[in-house]
Amino acid sequence: MINAGTKLCGVIGDPVKHTLSPVMHNRAIAELGIDYAYLAFNVKTTNLGASIEGMRALGIRGLNVTIPHKVAVVQFLDELDPLARDIGAVNTIVNDEGKLKGYNTDAAGFLQSLDAAGFEPMGKKVVLLGAGGAARAMGFALAQAGSLITILNRKPTLPQAVILSNNLERTCGSKVTVMELNATNLKTVMAEAELLVNATSAGMEPAVDETAVPTDLLKPGITVFDVVYTPYETRLLKEAAARGCQVISGLEMLVSQAALALELWTGMQAPLGVMREAAISAVYPGTGGTSVKTPEIEKTEKTNVALVGFMGAGKTAVGKALARKMGKPFADLDALVEKKAGKSVARIFKEDGEPVFRKLEKASTTDIACKSGRVIACGGGVPLDPANITALKQSSVVVYLKTSNTEIIKRVSSGPVRPLLADGKDITTLIAARTPFYEQSADITIDTTRITIECVAEKIIERLGKYESFRF
Ligand code: NAP
Repeated sequence: MINAGTKLCGVIGDPVKHTLSPVMHNRAIAELGIDYAYLAFNVKTTNLGASIEGMRALGIRGLNVTIPHKVAVVQFLDELDPLARDIGAVNTIVNDEGKLKGYNTDAAGFLQSLDAAGFEPMGKKVVLLGAGGAARAMGFALAQAGSLITILNRKPTLPQAVILSNNLERTCGSKVTVMELNATNLKTVMAEAELLVNATSAGMEPAVDETAVPTDLLKPGITVFDVVYTPYETRLLKEAAARGCQVISGLEMLVSQAALALELWTGMQAPLGVMREAAISAVYPGTGGTSVKTPEIEKTEKTNVALVGFMGAGKTAVGKALARKMGKPFADLDALVEKKAGKSVARIFKEDGEPVFRKLEKASTTDIACKSGRVIACGGGVPLDPANITALKQSSVVVYLKTSNTEIIKRVSSGPVRPLLADGKDITTLIAARTPFYEQSADITIDTTRITIECVAEKIIERLGKYESFRF
């Protein structure tokens, strides 16, 4: 019940009449049982500064920022998260005792929705349509993730796309191509595309018959993401699905960015499933969210979860949190190796060398793979040996904890020197060499770069739901 201690959050924009944010956030607040409330405020551009001062004066805990204020609001804030600064747009403000900090959760929300669909953007050829606010965040996310991007924008606003590409090249160091959005260029780029991202408002209600891409350019093998979420299934998505493409609705990004914002305000794990259901129910009144296609259940006898990833990905910390949440015993492969050898990993490397360590690691992997019902944190080198993965896969769903290079370097350099890096090996080269092994071995991939350990564990549990043996 709302009382004198209730913390207020909300969204500012113009218009905000159709926003799904209050529905999603208030359902999440009820689910978490916390003393918060969320409202929508229609704020005209001329009142933007006054509304932010009002936030400070009234002690409003958090605001989401939507069209048309995401860029202009920056000037009224005290601090910017580095990602929001690079993107140049804010969609979430956190008020810490009068100090206002701006974040951008659109970029991470977009990447999470790709990740949830099992799409890995690194090295993929991406066609990005549009150069507006949404394209900015999504372009940044893709460039940071290592995609090869071509931006297509309508002729009169082509300079906007050139500015965006220059920003991406400057901040992320990636090469970005810009073209006019027309039939000839679309045909050329779609022939090579692996991911098509519609970041324009084409197809948004009420113009539901519009699409920026002719049907005949959509072919199986392409993943199609549409930022538009009203309607839930846009014409582009319907046509893409009919042509055999994998499709992802903008609603997934909307829900993910909202969940990340709620986590920033409350410090709590957002109930993603409840928020998605609330959003879908609002788009399709009366469905209670049942119009979401439930993922197909995969029959399996596997009962272990094996976590793989580079050092610093959080395998041990996430493994412990996951084991606690799932009520399963936790096993750390490095600890098993140490037990077998009677000395620390560092000492094995120093006194016996890496080949002896790998041999012990292989034996420990075989041992643990014979057990059931465990959460296993694997050493970073385990997936390099195909025999290890074959053994693990017999009893385990393999989860790859993916982390950006920058974040890995930050995490690894703040801890003790890792045995593998003790002789001055270059970490970036090592990451590049190992990443394909992690990707190939993974049944599930979770990006851990910007989310808490608890949140990673929750996401793994959510994704395990598609396996029969992990359904509760
Ligand atoms: P914006 O800044 O106004 O940009 C709109 C972009 O769409 C511009 O590049 C515009 O090109 C282009 N465009 C509009 N109609 C077009 C058409 N018929 N054909 C080709 N290009 C067209 O808006 P925004 O903030 O980027 O939002 C775009 C859409 O994304 C909206 O539908 C919004 O609701 C949605 N959105 C979704 C999420 C989510 O979480 N799913 C988040 C943010 C935004 P011109 O400059 O040439 O007009």
